[in-house]
Amino acid sequence: MKVTFWGTRGSYPIASPQTIKVGGRTSCVSVEFDQQLIIFDAGTGLISLGEDSRLQYYTQATILLSHLHHDHIMGIPFFKPIFLKEWTLNFYSGHAAPFGGLEKALQTCFSPPYFPVPWEDFPATRHYHEFEPGRPLSIGSTDVMLETMALDHPGGACGYRLSQQGHTIVYLTDTKHSNLLRPEFIRFSQGADMLIYDSTFTDTEFDQHPDWGHSTWKEATAVAKAAKVKSLALFHHNPDHSDEEMQDILTQAQAEFAGTILGTDGLGINL
Ligand SMILES: [Zn+2]
Ligand SMILES: [Zn+2]
Repeated sequence: MKVTFWGTRGSYPIASPQTIKVGGRTSCVSVEFDQQLIIFDAGTGLISLGEDSRLQYYTQATILLSHLHHDHIMGIPFFKPIFLKEWTLNFYSGHAAPFGGLEKALQTCFSPPYFPVPWEDFPATRHYHEFEPGRPLSIGSTDVMLETMALDHPGGACGYRLSQQGHTIVYLTDTKHSNLLRPEFIRFSQGADMLIYDSTFTDTEFDQHPDWGHSTWKEATAVAKAAKVKSLALFHHNPDHSDEEMQDILTQAQAEFAGTILGTDGLGINL
């Protein structure tokens, strides 16, 4: 199982000399195994994936959206395969039903006056799969187990736990934490090879914005330790945090949980 971080920033894309090492593209992580391409979120990191030479081996992708906030979907109309009629994109979402469904939501975002090309004019075939977070999903492959979990975020968000042939990756962003939620996170992340977790805030920032629906690197390490995961990837970085601050956060996090890494744009890992 190969995991690649294409975009690791939260909220909005940034570019500055102070953030160049970690990167400034928004949430997007791909997972590849057995000629399958599965993508967690479709932020601006998705654009880099669309430009990567590995795409020549694929003609379809499964895109698992945590939710529909801009930082998680804004790469979609710039993803090269959406302009190729031989491609099929399968979108999954647990939070579009109150807004008329997933197709309607994407059509609204990516049609005039918000986008120059009407959604229905993109050449790729698109399928829309909607579900209630908390239920397991079938993505058409018998050896893949995909569990989902409702997260605590304004408007809702969904976490994913993907297992295939003894390898497990857990994607938990965007969410705040609480004493009640921590046992749920631990159960959901139990024994994973990698936990990717919403580490937007420091403890001080969390106290300033308790209702923004994001968690902290400190909570990430507490969950990682209790769930006995093999590695923890800090993710959905605060756009205000410079490379220097991120390095400092990483050092502190590694003191709490030695298996911590920093999700950075372009980082690839074989699980
Ligand atoms: Zn976000
Ligand atoms: Zn969000």
